[in-house]
Amino acid sequence: MKNIMFIAPPAAGKGTQAELVVQKYNIPHISTGDILREISKEDNEIGNYVAETLASGRLVKDEITYQLIEERLKKEDCQNGFIIDGFPRNLDQAIKYDEILNNLHLDIGNVILIDIDEKTLEKRIVGRRICENCGSIYNINDEKSAPQIESVCDNCGGALYQRTDDNLESFQTRYQMYKEKTEPIINYYKEKNVLQTVDGNDTVENVFKKVDEIISK
Ligand SMILES: [Zn+2]
Repeated sequence: MKNIMFIAPPAAGKGTQAELVVQKYNIPHISTGDILREISKEDNEIGNYVAETLASGRLVKDEITYQLIEERLKKEDCQNGFIIDGFPRNLDQAIKYDEILNNLHLDIGNVILIDIDEKTLEKRIVGRRICENCGSIYNINDEKSAPQIESVCDNCGGALYQRTDDNLESFQTRYQMYKEKTEPIINYYKEKNVLQTVDGNDTVENVFKKVDEIISK
């Protein structure tokens, strides 16, 4: 099993695809967010630093992130493949990630870009509704994932709400940021010949089929 990295704009379904890969192949899902939250519970120098930094909303220093990722990837469960998530976020980090992989004699593996139209993403974001009771996610702009009764959860009858940052303006800001930071990473992996592109303008199942074709090769 090759290692896997997904690159995708906000709301492209990256988390869902990663989850499906984890279920099918039983490999660890290495999320930098999770690593940082875990370490912040430890009562030592790094733990305290990360806890304070996260609480203040600032970004954790790159050196600390690099160190934590390297330690995590060293573990036994990563030796037969893993999904890296939330990292690298910019070109500097992508270059450093290569160094970390080199140190550990690991391969970059499959870098999978979920390519999706900006308009499709807008519709998804603006139409997203979440059950306040059980967390089920719906989309009123998509027949297949719209609730049967407006504003009511199919699963538990709870009320549906819209996240405050699920609006057009907030999406456009996030999308612009993604493009600025991520385009150089995409080009970097293209030049290294490790980038594979999957059309994300499709159902979760169909996107996963294409992802699975790539990773099962
Ligand atoms: Zn519900």
